[in-house]
Amino acid sequence: MEVLFLGTAAAEGIPALFCKCETCLRAGLAGGHDIRSRCGFLINRHLMLDMTPDIMLHKLRYNLDLTAVDAVCFTHSHTDHLAWAELTFRGSPYAYIPGGPPLAVYANKKSCFVIREGLKFEFGVPEDPSLEIHEIAPGSVIQRGELRVTALKARHDPREDCLFFLLEEGERAFLQMNDTGLPEEDLERVLAEALRGRKLDAVSMDCTTGREKGSAGHMGMGENIFLKKRLLDAGLASGKTRFISNHFSHNGHVSHGELCEVLGAQGIVPAYDGMILEI
Ligand SMILES: [Zn+2]
Ligand SMILES: [Zn+2]
Ligand SMILES: [Zn+2]
Repeated sequence: MEVLFLGTAAAEGIPALFCKCETCLRAGLAGGHDIRSRCGFLINRHLMLDMTPDIMLHKLRYNLDLTAVDAVCFTHSHTDHLAWAELTFRGSPYAYIPGGPPLAVYANKKSCFVIREGLKFEFGVPEDPSLEIHEIAPGSVIQRGELRVTALKARHDPREDCLFFLLEEGERAFLQMNDTGLPEEDLERVLAEALRGRKLDAVSMDCTTGREKGSAGHMGMGENIFLKKRLLDAGLASGKTRFISNHFSHNGHVSHGELCEVLGAQGIVPAYDGMILEI
């Protein structure tokens, strides 16, 4: 399985759109891995996790063929993850994909509502032949070719059933966990059920609050270190599992170099835009 980290920032990006804080000024000067666009993933070049407002930047930066993307799974409806306006450009007359099937969209109830409102806003009706919208909830399993995607419950925004995803291909398993605080106590049980005896090969963890303490809806470095131990103790991960921190905010007050130092000592790799993980 190939996992491309399209972007690795929280909602406002780093440097943030309208910000002169020290973290943003430092990031602007440093460039490189300190520049972060909004968080999303591309799996095997054809399945997207979230469609961010930076999709155009990602297409140009990584020379992506987005006509090859046949499905998008949305974690939740926040605007850094569900850029509904960009999704409408999959429809006519904006896109030409001769003979191409509609884009399969999997999203929770609120996200489906937002997408349909977006279609209404753009096309006047809540459906479009370019999209096939499927409502999912925690526990839903999606099979896309060899890829099996299980939706799990995130602890993020109580106004909707926010999700994160377990992706499996053959014997390989990748857990994507951004936009979640430390997950509920039953994570171990739910994950063990979903994994059916296999162990995680890689885990990407929300690290929005960086060096600050995590909140109800986000984690920081401290929580990432704790979560790694939890997954190892539960036997869901092993010494071979790769742990990655992702989804960073300027409010976490931490540079990529500092993340490498603190997390690296704990066997955790901080993600950066364009990082490719072969699992
Ligand atoms: Zn987010
Ligand atoms: Zn800032
Ligand atoms: Zn969010």
